[in-house]
Amino acid sequence: MSPDSRIRVLAVDDHPLLREGIAALIADETVLEVKRSVDIYEIVSGYVSLKRAGASYKGLCPFHEEKTPSFIVTPQRQTFKCFGCGKGGDAISFVMARENGLKALSSARTV
Ligand SMILES: [Zn+2]
Repeated sequence: MSPDSRIRVLAVDDHPLLREGIAALIADETVLEVKRSVDIYEIVSGYVSLKRAGASYKGLCPFHEEKTPSFIVTPQRQTFKCFGCGKGGDAISFVMARENGLKALSSARTV
């Protein structure tokens, strides 16, 4: 799409179908933006007390009962992994798993 045609699309925004298309596009970009700007350490440390262990952080897994920390957060890769129960993922999947799927999914969509 050339810059010119883009301007034209935005100028005819009174067409309901076009308006919906543009809104969907913006919503998608917002989710990507949230994912890019979110720091997994900040998110997880709101739920779990994390201790630095080299380049990673260690804590008690919020997804299963344990007494020795096997829950690892790696900020460099923006991922978490539990070596006790096997749960792992990124900041978004952490919040989704933590808030029990559907509830978090709907709030992520309204962000
Ligand atoms: Zn676990």
